[in-house]
Amino acid sequence: NYYFDQAATTPPHPDVTRTIAEIMMQHYGNPSSLHQLGEASVQLLRKAREVCAEALDVPPRTILFTSGATESNNLAIKGAALQYSKRGRHIVTTAIEHASVYESVKQLEAWGYEITILPVDQEGRITPKQVLDAIRPDTTIVSVMHVNNEVGTIMPIQDIGLQLKTKYPRVLFHVDGVQGFGKVPLNIKGSGIDLYSLSAHKIYGPKGTGLLFVREGVQLTPLLSGGSQEHGFRAGTENVPQIVGMAKSMRMAVEGRITVAERMSHLKESIMDQLELIPELVINTPRELTAPHIINFSYPGMKGEVLLHMLEEAGFMVSTRSACSSKKSEPSGVLLAMGRTSAAATSGIRISLGNEHTDYEVGLLMEAIRSIVARLRHWKGGQR
Ligand code: PLP
Repeated sequence: NYYFDQAATTPPHPDVTRTIAEIMMQHYGNPSSLHQLGEASVQLLRKAREVCAEALDVPPRTILFTSGATESNNLAIKGAALQYSKRGRHIVTTAIEHASVYESVKQLEAWGYEITILPVDQEGRITPKQVLDAIRPDTTIVSVMHVNNEVGTIMPIQDIGLQLKTKYPRVLFHVDGVQGFGKVPLNIKGSGIDLYSLSAHKIYGPKGTGLLFVREGVQLTPLLSGGSQEHGFRAGTENVPQIVGMAKSMRMAVEGRITVAERMSHLKESIMDQLELIPELVINTPRELTAPHIINFSYPGMKGEVLLHMLEEAGFMVSTRSACSSKKSEPSGVLLAMGRTSAAATSGIRISLGNEHTDYEVGLLMEAIRSIVARLRHWKGGQR
């Protein structure tokens, strides 16, 4: 079987799993304990924080470990909204954010906050001007993802951040960096970013582990009540083994980024070229300013699930959309926001690439897509 669903999750790197297993067995101390086993865990955490910080080029004390990007996004948005509610209760975000951002702002709306959701263009992008125009005296946070998880569109984060901070320095800027890290360069310090979320399992690290960068001086109201771990922002005993595993995977992502991204871009171009030759298909991922690992296309009139299962029978695992909403059979909200028809938005298929893919595997996948579409075309013809 060939796995082409790396945007949903990546297989953990063997070095990462080995490290995690070793730490679980040998360094099981609680970092809050005062004895030597506790101290050993404190040192592991300290080192991991330094490695993660170096990978993001930010100071170690700005890194806060969480249970994944869902928690990071919740903490960034709700934690900041609650903390700064005296300044105002207005939040700005986009129409194509991940569910963990979208549902966080929806919850805040239910708590009396006001939300502005910026529409995206046909490529799934917003402009810095849209953000600036949406700012009001009571706006406290702007949240924009770096790379969209369904179609791979890159948002102009640096332009948005710099313009926002020049005009409205007090408005906080949160970026969901999950699908961009290790694939699309981003200068966190130089982009006016106050809060940045990351997940380990998208970069060959463990599931259930992530981080939130919190710029110095930014305060958050904790969402979990308990101990004073993670500078008091996130209570609960730290998942030391997985945090060390995440640090390792972040270092590997940074070290390999340029060559791997170039190789992925080449495979992506090849897939796009071949998809374009199949007349029935609509390609939803734009050619320019998109991440190297995501390609989304639709076969309007055919449910995405049908194509997905036929591909699976042929030995290829892909996705209809983001993993957490793929069980719903409604049209994709991202594709609808990009102006696709309901038929196209119900038939989206996402291919996502990883470090290990080669021309050979991509060739096999494309052959399978061509043959399945030919069968479906024949079948549809027979239906008429
Ligand atoms: N944000 C984006 C853009 C994602 O693709 C994902 C992946 O599911 C998440 C957030 C959530 O990350 P996690 O699975 O670590 O909660």
